[in-house]
Amino acid sequence: MAIWNLGSVNADLVYRLPHLPAPGETLAALSHQRGLGGKGANMSVAAVRAGGDVHHIGAVGEDGVWMRDRLEDYGVGVAHIRVVDAASGHAIIALDGSGENQIIIHPGANILVEMPVLEEVLSRASAGDIAVFQNETNVQRDFARAARDRGLRVCYAAAPFSVQAVRDVLDQIDILVMNAVEAAQLEAEMGLAVADIPVADVVITLGADGCRWLHQGRERHFDAPRVTPVDTTGAGDTFTGYLLAALDNKQDMARAISRAQMAGAVMVTRLGTADVIPTQDDIDQFFA
Ligand code: ATP
Repeated sequence: MAIWNLGSVNADLVYRLPHLPAPGETLAALSHQRGLGGKGANMSVAAVRAGGDVHHIGAVGEDGVWMRDRLEDYGVGVAHIRVVDAASGHAIIALDGSGENQIIIHPGANILVEMPVLEEVLSRASAGDIAVFQNETNVQRDFARAARDRGLRVCYAAAPFSVQAVRDVLDQIDILVMNAVEAAQLEAEMGLAVADIPVADVVITLGADGCRWLHQGRERHFDAPRVTPVDTTGAGDTFTGYLLAALDNKQDMARAISRAQMAGAVMVTRLGTADVIPTQDDIDQFFA
């Protein structure tokens, strides 16, 4: 089976600064690092490291060919990442010495995906495969509907959160993954209790407190493994990538969640995003 991920590919451009710039201030950075990021890319890498056969669907500009190449090096299928005439998606991340940050995101090529291309890509998928998307690309509803029509199991990771984006796809998805903040926003802005969300499987991640799984009117809580966190960036994407790879490998939801939690826990002990997502061996060694 396979996982088809309509997802963002972003360059994370990280600048360490003596302090965050005030309006009008020009500051020299103390250091600069460029990494692969974007929720979509993170999920693809996580799902591949979990043993999945992953096809990433998206777009980068000429300046982002290195990101497509890196995903390919990691084992992600990149035949459906198009190179378009636009800047690649990127995040400019300013960090001060105390852990405070300022982030500017430019979606760039990520929102230039065309539906006819997606239809062609999905014609290669098989019923029972998994389709996943996040809220960092365009044509999300069309993608979900086309995937559903072909018999794929469709997952939406509802981040960055937008109530409109959730509304648009709610009747086209089988699995909804969000964190506690996103779940609270959904309840407040849609006036819909999470228990009443009309989606077969709803998974709400709770950071160090683990996660909740809601299914057919029942709810189950899973404790997270205890670890000492260093950097929580990418924990949610790692969780979702591992979850979907396990489901695609025909594991049941409870086992898939347990493995995803182990992956998320190891991820928070590491600094960085896509490049440091743990492998299955890393997880086994960590918990040995
Ligand atoms: P991010 O936006 O930082 O990628 P998120 O807010 O989407 O993360 P979280 O709920 O923070 O997602 O984390 C996802 C999963 O990762 C949790 O359900 C849990 O399994 C694991 N995890 C996160 N933080 C910790 C922690 N401090 N200790 C153990 N496990 C954790």
